[in-house]
Amino acid sequence: MSKFYLTTPLYYVNASPHIGHAYTNIAADTLARFKRLKKDEVFFLTGTDEHGEKVREAAQAKGKSPKEFADEVVANFQKLWKMLDISYDFFIRTTDELHKKVVKKVIEILWDKGDIYKSTYKGFYCIPCESFFSETQVKETEGRCPECKRPLEEIKEDNYFFKLSKYQEWLKSYLKDNPGAVKPSIRYNEVVGFLEANSLNDLCISRPKHRVSWGIEFPGDSNYVVYVWFDALLNYISGVGFYYQEENFRKWWPADCHFIGKDILRQHAIFWPIILHALDLSPPNTVFAHGWWLVEQEKMSKSKGNIVNPFDCIEEFGSDALRYFLLREIPFGLDGNFSREKFIKRINSDLANDLGNLVFRVLNMSEKYFGGKVSSLKREPPLEFKPLLDDLSKSYVPFMDSLEFSSALERVWSFINLMNKFIEDKKPWIMWRERRIEELKYFLFSLLEGIRIVTVYVSPFLPKAGADILSQLGQSSLKENLTLDEVCWKTEGFITQKGSPLFPRIDESIL
Ligand SMILES: [Zn+2]
Repeated sequence: MSKFYLTTPLYYVNASPHIGHAYTNIAADTLARFKRLKKDEVFFLTGTDEHGEKVREAAQAKGKSPKEFADEVVANFQKLWKMLDISYDFFIRTTDELHKKVVKKVIEILWDKGDIYKSTYKGFYCIPCESFFSETQVKETEGRCPECKRPLEEIKEDNYFFKLSKYQEWLKSYLKDNPGAVKPSIRYNEVVGFLEANSLNDLCISRPKHRVSWGIEFPGDSNYVVYVWFDALLNYISGVGFYYQEENFRKWWPADCHFIGKDILRQHAIFWPIILHALDLSPPNTVFAHGWWLVEQEKMSKSKGNIVNPFDCIEEFGSDALRYFLLREIPFGLDGNFSREKFIKRINSDLANDLGNLVFRVLNMSEKYFGGKVSSLKREPPLEFKPLLDDLSKSYVPFMDSLEFSSALERVWSFINLMNKFIEDKKPWIMWRERRIEELKYFLFSLLEGIRIVTVYVSPFLPKAGADILSQLGQSSLKENLTLDEVCWKTEGFITQKGSPLFPRIDESIL
């Protein structure tokens, strides 16, 4: 059995979850479920990033303490994950005591090693972004913040720095030897290009308390707190017990996959591997940066008022439909354009017409012709099924392992559509009329077995529908510990129990 440790970014709690957060967690959950199907031992970590001035301000605006405010937002995230069937193993908060201990310990280790020093910082500071910028960085933006374009404050103050620059050459050669360390390749090239063209500045990892009061106190200097990014990145090791639960940590580290959005690539592909290397730890096996969902070609933002609310989507269309749409519509890694019209069309064509209708028709025939009891003397798959079944058994796992979710779904749907066509071609109603009973039994048995196999393949994407179909097929016992061993032709017979349609058609006139 091999282990698989995957993480999502920690979501910043200054606002409620939006579709982008849902996207990352749906992708991570789908991968976690797939790995469990493969019988890997999985540890799936998600959580929240709760320190920093933005959180304190958002709390203050609501008349709450930062922790009270964070508790409420955290509850909102957890509610969303429950609605979306996100099967995480641990939810970490950067306000957790163990996490805070790990952050302090890491700083002590790096201090003792000589990788942290105190120095005077001269430059520009953006209060809302909590970021420092050098003179050269702000030249191009005429003295404004390169990230949020707000005016900057010119400052001179003492701070603690981590020696990022010391490890630049190491990172360059590490990336050269490990082209899979950052994916997709467009992001790998971006990081490598950046490191070729720029000299890294040391990373300022403290903030004076008069500027940022809500944070982890800097060990050995109570006038400072730890910079929120340095604090947050360490969750990936504190979440599996770095330093305090050594055995558990050794079992899971290095992480197999960090899922992130492409906007936080530099923190994960430059700062993070360097911090780990300085701690004598291996970098994660893969950092995968996915794209953004745009709304009518624009990036979602509060100011544009075009944020897609995942709670509304789930309420209107169901959680499986949202999971399916986000992973089927665009290849994972690229940007996508979210539109209500595309969403509804996808539900109607793929889920209602293809999958939902197949299950409904076959279960209907099973009840109508045989009272729900279907077995057959002949058990091997029909010749018509064989090429696509073989193709799926060869292609599904590699597609999923390489995070090509939409390609995996496309192949599964080819088989679903083949079964729909099989019904049209074989005309079971004529078999029934002509009393070709054994033939009709074999026909229905084959479809039920085909549906059962399809259900295994779609279960990482559609956990609710997957469980529902297994119940309808009388295969509820498979729900616990479903594995890829189930994708072979093996059932002896079915006792079916027809349910209501899985994905009701949505009236397109509401568009
Ligand atoms: Zn800014």
